[in-house]
Amino acid sequence: MAKDNKPFEIILFGPPASGKGTQAKLLAETFDIPHISTGHLLREVKADANNHLAKEIANLIDNGQLVADDLVNQMVVDRIKKNDCQAGFILDGYPRTEEQVEFLEKISNIDYVFLIEIKDEMIIERISGRRTCKNGHSWHIKYSPTKKDGLCDICGEELYVRDDDNEEKVKERLRIYHQNHDPILNYYNQKEKLIIVNGDQHIEGVFQDLIKYLVDDLRRKMR
Ligand SMILES: [Zn+2]
Repeated sequence: MAKDNKPFEIILFGPPASGKGTQAKLLAETFDIPHISTGHLLREVKADANNHLAKEIANLIDNGQLVADDLVNQMVVDRIKKNDCQAGFILDGYPRTEEQVEFLEKISNIDYVFLIEIKDEMIIERISGRRTCKNGHSWHIKYSPTKKDGLCDICGEELYVRDDDNEEKVKERLRIYHQNHDPILNYYNQKEKLIIVNGDQHIEGVFQDLIKYLVDDLRRKMR
């Protein structure tokens, strides 16, 4: 596949609870480019009978197996080739391995690699402070507390910590996140491509920082 220059070839990295998916969606809407989330893409391809990778991917997912690098790579290339990617795209959840990074270098000209950075302690606080009731109303002990401790403001039901949100599970997710991503982030950092955005602020603040970086950079390029 020939590499052509698109203005917005963007990768967005961020740990769990960094709001990465939300930011990707906002950027996609703002610049009218697709938000390519590998998780969504896998489900989409799996469900698309006309896709040449559908069967293979369905077999792996249904058997609880990992989808190998080359298959994920192929899926991403297919997606990037589509017409709606002419101005660029936002990758979310890809690349996740060094092999995927290498492959992506061959098929694209990535312009921006953003990392929404948040300290681990802050992520643990964000996730393990979440509370929910059996009706699915969500609260946070610090950021959106209920009026009565342990009871939902909306339905009065008891609040609990979801299994995935308990501190030990969050720490394990963070360990895996760092194990997978630290080498990749180092790579982009050494290439002077990594742009770090402070994730310890509201959604709007993070978004403003991303936009400001992009606008400033486009201005520089137009001179
Ligand atoms: Zn409730």
